[in-house]
Amino acid sequence: MKDVKKSIQQHRQELLREIKQLARHALVGAVSETYRTCGSPGCRCHHGGLKHGPHLYVSYRGPKGKTTGYYVPTSIHEEVRTGIAAWAQLQDRLRQIAQLNRERLATKTRRKKATFATGSN
Ligand SMILES: [Zn+2]
Repeated sequence: MKDVKKSIQQHRQELLREIKQLARHALVGAVSETYRTCGSPGCRCHHGGLKHGPHLYVSYRGPKGKTTGYYVPTSIHEEVRTGIAAWAQLQDRLRQIAQLNRERLATKTRRKKATFATGSN
């Protein structure tokens, strides 16, 4: 029984560590790639050739619920992709730790333990 408690505690610490790391570079938004024509009329992109890109675009909901976004310079494409993936991982870890928090609270309240700990999210 003691071992079980300890491993839950270790799991919590692991999650907290991961959350801290992920939060450092997390970014909000959805990535999309666009291909565009340039400003030179003589360029291949205006004559059936390949367009320029991919241009990375990040869209997200602003504070008033309005969708907004920004283009990402090529030099930081990887960081931005990683940051957005980190946001999703962060949600997952937070959900896991919230579940552990709930289980921990459940051990404090014996009477309604069953329903409190096992109810759906
Ligand atoms: Zn062009």
